[in-house]
Amino acid sequence: MRLKADAPSKEVDTKISELLSNEQYFRICNECGERNPCGWMHSQLICQSWAERNHGVIY
Ligand SMILES: [Zn+2]
Repeated sequence: MRLKADAPSKEVDTKISELLSNEQYFRICNECGERNPCGWMHSQLICQSWAERNHGVIY
């Protein structure tokens, strides 16, 4: 019996893209346009790395 090696990774991919498109977990930074986990957002609008680089916020 052969295992379908590609099946699980496809499932994972789908799960990941679901997660990535879920605004509950990820937000798109208004400044750099990158998608960040909510925990990595400085505010609703900008990510921590942007805040750090451009607003003098130290994390
Ligand atoms: Zn950003």
